[in-house]
Amino acid sequence: MASYFSEDLLNSRYQAMKVHILSQWLNMGAQRGEYYLQCPCYQDCYCTDWEEIPRIPLNICMYPGELDMFVVHQPFEQYGVIVRWHCIECERELSCGFLPLGTL
Ligand SMILES: [Zn+2]
Ligand SMILES: [Zn+2]
Repeated sequence: MASYFSEDLLNSRYQAMKVHILSQWLNMGAQRGEYYLQCPCYQDCYCTDWEEIPRIPLNICMYPGELDMFVVHQPFEQYGVIVRWHCIECERELSCGFLPLGTL
């Protein structure tokens, strides 16, 4: 994963996505709790209701490794927000995990 993007680019994608997620969360009413990060392909296993675990729509498809960064760092914990991108029921991914076009 790291070989496709420089560390600087990865970090700026991470920072930009943090801002995006935060603004989506504010738009959704800024509730504490668990959220799924859902890539714009709207991949979903539908194990859990939207009311149970809301989906925060991402604006671009990210690498699974990039999404793992959010799970590892939990950058929104200070707001009482925990993000996941794997279903807690079936462990399916709510992201396509595709490489962005034009990087190969
Ligand atoms: Zn996607
Ligand atoms: Zn599921």
